[in-house]
Amino acid sequence: MIVVLPIVMALGISVALFMLGMLGYLLFGFFKKLYHDLLHWHMPEDDGEQWSDGCSQHAICKYCGKEIMMDSQGNWF
Ligand SMILES: [Zn+2]
Repeated sequence: MIVVLPIVMALGISVALFMLGMLGYLLFGFFKKLYHDLLHWHMPEDDGEQWSDGCSQHAICKYCGKEIMMDSQGNWF
């Protein structure tokens, strides 16, 4: 048990850091290189145009200018 503990702790810290970074990205656009460029988490423009094609919401990504769509969970891709 004593051997597993540091591994579990390291994992927990990594996940916590990832979640923190994710929050920073979603709120302030921090770590764009990791979350946008690497994980392709696009973000709509703050005051940009959004439109619907009947089943999904479309917008333009504020970082790369590509057209993005929102899934049923509210995530942009
Ligand atoms: Zn993008």
